[in-house]
Amino acid sequence: MPRPLKPTPVWIAVPAAGSGSRMGGDVRKQYLPLAGRPLAEHTLAALLAVPGLRELVVGIAPADSRWTSLSPDLRSRVRCVEGGADRATSVLNALHAFKPLPADSDWVLVHDMARPCVRTEDIIRLVATLTDDDTGGLLALPVVDTLKRADADDRVEATVARELLWRAQTPQMFRYGLLRAALQSARDAGVAVTDEAMAIERLGGRPRLVACGAHNIKVTTRGDLSLAEYYLREREEGA
Ligand code: C5P
Repeated sequence: MPRPLKPTPVWIAVPAAGSGSRMGGDVRKQYLPLAGRPLAEHTLAALLAVPGLRELVVGIAPADSRWTSLSPDLRSRVRCVEGGADRATSVLNALHAFKPLPADSDWVLVHDMARPCVRTEDIIRLVATLTDDDTGGLLALPVVDTLKRADADDRVEATVARELLWRAQTPQMFRYGLLRAALQSARDAGVAVTDEAMAIERLGGRPRLVACGAHNIKVTTRGDLSLAEYYLREREEGA
């Protein structure tokens, strides 16, 4: 009988300290109800089911009083740390909090709490694709729209060829030592990086893009909640 393959060990960092100002209202977006439970519970459930998971650390805002309203079963499987003033700082804080600290060569997945429709099988595919990669990479969606670059007056300056353009999603998967160094280097240089891949690119790395569906949306505005609910229900019905 073939021996079962051992899953690649992975560590997961989840930035969740954003204010969600584009959503409006008092409640941070990860606590808004979505398909019958708080948004964050969908994200955490998908991540906690990843085979080979060593530890999951979430960075939450110091003023976040709602974390304890999430399901105790999920919370008991997660370590919480204070997030930072920007996403990269929240990720760095989470990277420092793993216990024990991962080896530099270990793989880390960084996933936005605000992407609740990610599917465990998307992540398994990402890990399987990249496990022997030198650099790492990210889930992403090829661009389908015709793209325009504007000038300061909102006049079209150019039509941008879309064939090689992708929308970056998460998880993003990089080796622990490289990711920590890349985020720290960007911070030391005063460069604001909006995802992990950008920090790696700054150091000359060329992350691999792994295609994922449109369902892996980042919930940003109220309208995104309905779309996320649609994708979650579609998944339930398909399961
Ligand atoms: O603001 P945006 O939607 O790009 O945030 C993406 C993710 O980064 C969200 O899950 C958000 O909570 C997190 N974030 C964070 N710390 C910040 C800002 C954003 O952890 N200071």
